[in-house]
Amino acid sequence: MMSTIERGRMRFERTCSGIRMVCLAVLLVTAGIVSGCASREDSVPKGRVMVLGIDGGTWNVIEPMMAAGQLPHIKKLYDEGLHGILQSRPPILSPVVWTTIFTGFKSDTHGVTDWKTSQSTNRRVSAIWGIYSERKLKTDVFNVPGTWPPEPVEGVMLSGFPLSGSTYAGNTGEVLTSEQLDAGRTTAAYRDSLDEIRSRTARLETGQWTPWFPGKVPSRAGFVGAMRAMRLAPDKIYLTPLYRTDDGIVVSEPRDLRGKISERLREPYIPEGPGWSRWAEPDTADFLYAHLKQVFDIQSRAALEYAGTDWGLFLYVMTLVDRVSHPYWAYSHPDDYPDLDRDKAERYESAVADAYRASDEALGKIIERAQSSSNGAFSVVVVSDHGFASSRDKTKAIGAHDPDGIYLVWGPGIKPESGARAFIEDVTPTLLYMMGMPIGDDMDGKPIAEVTADLGRAVKTVDTYEHGDRRGNDRPVDDATWEQLRGLGYVDGAPPRREQQQLQQQQRQPGGRVQGRVAPDNKPGARAQDGAAPDNKPVRQAKPDKPANPAKRPDKAAGQSRPRVQPKGQQCRSPRGAGAARIAGDQTR
Ligand SMILES: [Zn+2]
Repeated sequence: MMSTIERGRMRFERTCSGIRMVCLAVLLVTAGIVSGCASREDSVPKGRVMVLGIDGGTWNVIEPMMAAGQLPHIKKLYDEGLHGILQSRPPILSPVVWTTIFTGFKSDTHGVTDWKTSQSTNRRVSAIWGIYSERKLKTDVFNVPGTWPPEPVEGVMLSGFPLSGSTYAGNTGEVLTSEQLDAGRTTAAYRDSLDEIRSRTARLETGQWTPWFPGKVPSRAGFVGAMRAMRLAPDKIYLTPLYRTDDGIVVSEPRDLRGKISERLREPYIPEGPGWSRWAEPDTADFLYAHLKQVFDIQSRAALEYAGTDWGLFLYVMTLVDRVSHPYWAYSHPDDYPDLDRDKAERYESAVADAYRASDEALGKIIERAQSSSNGAFSVVVVSDHGFASSRDKTKAIGAHDPDGIYLVWGPGIKPESGARAFIEDVTPTLLYMMGMPIGDDMDGKPIAEVTADLGRAVKTVDTYEHGDRRGNDRPVDDATWEQLRGLGYVDGAPPRREQQQLQQQQRQPGGRVQGRVAPDNKPGARAQDGAAPDNKPVRQAKPDKPANPAKRPDKAAGQSRPRVQPKGQQCRSPRGAGAARIAGDQTR
């Protein structure tokens, strides 16, 4: 099949007979524009794509639920579209994996390699929202793990966890007896709001929640917070974390977006719910699901506000399934846990299924909102970063990450079928292809074969989307972020920066004995059991000297080699005018 460039060239040569030299010069320029600098033209989107993430979603729960007539919205996509297993890669930690999903690069290249480097400032390559925004195409991004601090996009972004300082003093909340409340024996977070808490909870029935109410921290000037309370028993209440709601914490781009959303929702926007690390405490299961669901509803309503706008790319990662699967998985799989409290198993057996039902409902509403707008057809891609399974340590009543996640592709031209196993790094190439954009030849992934077969368009490539000016550092997350991660149950130990400082102090002390350098890999890291896959390997430390623009892997995508039409080295100005996206010609598979 002849490429566009070749056809154009033949037509051009036929019309240029007498004035060959002039034509040749024009031809070279034209060829340069078409093949070398075609990025703008190639970038004209051919399809709008909505990506809905289900953090921790697994077919092992979804398929039986669909068979039982549940999850109607996911089932529709499943019945009408392409579905398969999306295989994750270790370390299976949400910010690491979601960064792979939305860059097309494996973690050793993209730079978000563990909890210590789990923020957007650690990323060394462009994410798909950056690629899309650079072409002035509207991109809305909601709650993707590893996107704090938020980045400017051509649209809006609400950051996902981990976030620095999004709560005051703790991320789990507190259980208080009436006696403790009366005596004011609380953690610092609630000490200045005691009167408010007492009056709000005085007439609260067991099982009932207060609405959101303001919390004060006068010792922290400018800190404004919000919390809720639930009565667990006649003499006991649960207080959610005190979430920071003022503008001092930036969780959105543009910065004032969070406030505007809170106003529209008439509730404070909460970027991350409480953790599951206090699972060992007997009361946790009584309130955790309900509050995680409250936070999830706020996040979903925020995303819904934008679903009907004229985006070209819409991304929303729902984290409820993951947050609920960690602490409640055992109760829906009691046979896997011989020591499990049977009463609790009965009481909480539906929590995981409830989280899937809530996610299905939110997904249905968001798709419906987009369909009822007049912004044109779109495709839907549903992905998870990993699945879930019973933990290997059966004495701990928790669920564990499993490498097998899910993918679903639905939309114009996509046939209903069961697809081959794909990998997390294949998502961004697939999205770029679906949007009619070239795939970065340096990316580790390739478009899902069934999608390219169904849509039948040529797979175009560019050498890279990187400009060489990509930020991305190896600086560990700050103490407040580490506290959130610890509260969520993902890490143990001292914050990495403080550890680093202690080490430096030790090294500075004359004669101070340093027991060998603390290897980054031995620093407080992922809890192997809780947050990681069974086959989790030691956390890899980012290589500081690795260039931002990774070398192309010649062996990539076996059976799908992409012969280059365009000679290398021809440079194009990027849309920002900043650099050198070298463009390969189009090519038919
Ligand atoms: Zn998880």
